[in-house]
Amino acid sequence: MHEMSIAEGVVQLLEEQSLAQNYTRVKHVWLEIGPLAAVESEALRFCFDAVTRNTLAEGALLDIIDLPGEAWCLGCATTVPITQRYDSCVHCGSYQLQVTRGDELRIKELEVE
Ligand SMILES: [Zn+2]
Repeated sequence: MHEMSIAEGVVQLLEEQSLAQNYTRVKHVWLEIGPLAAVESEALRFCFDAVTRNTLAEGALLDIIDLPGEAWCLGCATTVPITQRYDSCVHCGSYQLQVTRGDELRIKELEVE
């Protein structure tokens, strides 16, 4: 499952960071996810709970922040909102969109001790 490897990647990052930043426990994680990262929030939550067991992030809260997707429409020569990679332009219906944001997947903030 895609979400499982993402959750594992997050935990790995938390463990690496704990050495550099000198914390032993992660209590809360805020993740920013764009619509094009194709992540199911509920599946990710489930996987996060599973992979954090017996790690420094066991029992940590996970907050998922949905970021907007955006693309540049060649037809309108403007930035338009998108919710998936192959959306058409909401203004002119064109499929000539260049995605400019929406595939983010990053840790925004951590609460540690
Ligand atoms: Zn357009």
